[in-house]
Amino acid sequence: MSYQTHLEYIKSINDQFRYYKTIESMFELDQWSALPLEGGNYRQEVAAHIAELKAGLFDSEEAKRAANYFRNADLNDIDDYVERGLVRSFLFRYRNQTRTPKHLMHQYSMIKAETMNKWKEARQKQDFEIFRPWLTKVFDLKTKIAEAIDPDASVFDTLVSINDEGTSCEEISREFDVLKVGLTNLRSEIEQSGVKPNSDIFNTMVDPARIEAFSQRLARESGYQESRGGFNNKVVHAFTSFMGPRDARVSTYQNGSLNMIFTCLHEAGHAMYASGGNDIVNIANMWGGIEGSFQESMARFNENIVGRSHAYWEYYYPQLQKEFPEFAGICLDDFYLSMNTVKPSLRRITADEVTYSLHVILRYELERDCFGGKLEAGDLRDAWNDLSEKYLGIRPSNDTEGVLQDMHWAGDYIGYFQSYALGNIYCGQLREAILNDVPDFENQLRQGAFTDLNTWLDENVRQYGCCFTAGEMAHRITGKSLDARPFLQYLEEKYKQIYQL
Ligand SMILES: [Zn+2]
Repeated sequence: MSYQTHLEYIKSINDQFRYYKTIESMFELDQWSALPLEGGNYRQEVAAHIAELKAGLFDSEEAKRAANYFRNADLNDIDDYVERGLVRSFLFRYRNQTRTPKHLMHQYSMIKAETMNKWKEARQKQDFEIFRPWLTKVFDLKTKIAEAIDPDASVFDTLVSINDEGTSCEEISREFDVLKVGLTNLRSEIEQSGVKPNSDIFNTMVDPARIEAFSQRLARESGYQESRGGFNNKVVHAFTSFMGPRDARVSTYQNGSLNMIFTCLHEAGHAMYASGGNDIVNIANMWGGIEGSFQESMARFNENIVGRSHAYWEYYYPQLQKEFPEFAGICLDDFYLSMNTVKPSLRRITADEVTYSLHVILRYELERDCFGGKLEAGDLRDAWNDLSEKYLGIRPSNDTEGVLQDMHWAGDYIGYFQSYALGNIYCGQLREAILNDVPDFENQLRQGAFTDLNTWLDENVRQYGCCFTAGEMAHRITGKSLDARPFLQYLEEKYKQIYQL
């Protein structure tokens, strides 16, 4: 059979795969926002059926023939980037779906719900011992699954590759080592600085509905078009649902914290990326952006590089003061310092820009050592506490503050943590490339002008959907693969100025 026949076949598989993903995305949004308690069981039944249909797409002789055909072809010979992306993602999904032994998946699905319950119970009682045997079982099963998927690769490389396709642990560890040294040095310099920002200013609570409206306006003005999505506020943790090529919905909550601004800017970054594919990409159902670290970088760019910059607030602070009289007597610089206070804490999700990646590196290294045979899952508590002291300078006083704080290991997100810090690293590389092409980028932010920035992001990143891997995208933009130095340089410039170092 010819290239064209196989290509048509994998196109139709990709279409169906994406249709199922859209259904799953709608289910997820519904589950967090509207699904009634007693509706859960039936929904689970339907979701399990959809998941089976999705996995079954790769379970045929035709799929096998197409996989064999393209496995023997050189992807670099395919000139068209959409076709190359289709082939690459087909082979990737085919490998993951067909090589995962069904009995292991079954064993995993049998303990999944109980593992989550044990994690919740352990958290409540601040006792890792309750979770320990379940975590050990999950890590053992994941090891067996990874070994079945790729017997020639290291277990952790395979687990990481499922979430961040094309990125090797070798390059992640290499760049994380660079980042770790730079960030711990910057953190200790900041600790010795005489500048002590008043973090209470930014922690002022305001009217929940008004800060929600204000934050949504900022997200819209940053470029998010509601005709390609929309907001709802009925969930407990913020996320964006990718429903279609021009449909990315932002879900948030109401709580009266100014952090809502960053939540909305972050999710808008995801949404603009997911709904920004060009027509060819959308017709081929290759929209949505590159999953994992690159998707995260596009959100963090809008949230941090844009939203936490001095230039941005030169434009928006007078508007915030007008809307919230609580800030009338506070000057821009004090507000800006407060928003960018660096203070090592035990919680990853509320960490500042400098210490955030250290939290992530800690978890990445623990996973790497567990799956590399250097550490037992049962010893994670002590290893966590030791690394926390080493990287952040503080030791958790109980397990809930430490090893039990993230739901990832209980919720099937294993080999996933690195994406968050890789997202930051890609942000640094994106920023460097943008400054090259749009040198007055900061001046434009000062005037609340986002057109040039969005045009750049559309042309260089968003339009390509998920046709490339994160590494390929970084290479296209900067000519280099993963490189932590631009992100470190950004943080050093910004925080040396803030803390007068
Ligand atoms: Zn995100």
